Amino acid sequence: MRKKIIAGNWKMHKTIAEAGVFLRGIQGHVPSRPGMEIWIAPPFTALHACMAFVKQHDLRVVIGGQTMHEAAQGAFTGEISGMMLRETGASFCILGHSERRALFHETDGIINAKVRRALETELTPLLCIGEKEAERESGDYMNLLELQLASGLAGIETAHLKRLVIAYEPVWAIGTGRTATPEVAQETHKKIRGFIARRWGESIAGSLPILYGGSVKPDNIAELLDQPDIDGALIGGAALEVRTFVAILNNVEKV
Ligand code: PEP
Repeated sequence: MRKKIIAGNWKMHKTIAEAGVFLRGIQGHVPSRPGMEIWIAPPFTALHACMAFVKQHDLRVVIGGQTMHEAAQGAFTGEISGMMLRETGASFCILGHSERRALFHETDGIINAKVRRALETELTPLLCIGEKEAERESGDYMNLLELQLASGLAGIETAHLKRLVIAYEPVWAIGTGRTATPEVAQETHKKIRGFIARRWGESIAGSLPILYGGSVKPDNIAELLDQPDIDGALIGGAALEVRTFVAILNNVEKV
């Protein structure tokens, strides 16, 4: 049985005070079901405070980063290392998000270096892949997704891939309100899992959680999670408000 993960990516939102209000707001709504994990990626400045909150209130929420630098340390003004994330108590790091690829020019090579560094630092990489609208429409999107996976995971020992989580996030669905239908998402997840099986073996493919991301909302989470190859969701907009995130958690409980 693969674990299910509902992950919220706060992007550049929430001060420390706002993060506290959010975590207080979801208390009492976090599913206690074994095998179901709730992950939140706050901005760097709120990481430590969020960790302190979840520890103090015994809140079943896993805290992680939204990005990190690929070097262990050095003269990289404004950057943050995996070790620095670990020290705050972070357990995972989102890597290869389409916003990092598009706005910060992160290539598959850079993302690969970050994934390796995250693994070395004992952070779980949450590796995002996804095609743009034109790539989906051309019908050639699987080549792109396979390339993102093959390059992003190049040179990593197969045994280490057990510590990885993948998020399939079609770029055309992020922040647009246009979710992939459960059928389209399932079909793509199945193909991604098939590629992983061919490349790294059935055992890794069978155990690797693959999350869906792109305009996930309270009213579509259940049908997405109902699909056999969808192991959870990476959520942006709807993870910012207590009301929508709690509604998502409540609907997840029913699946
Ligand atoms: C995201 O940015 O990873 C994301 C999925 O955003 P949204 O849920 O707002 O589409």
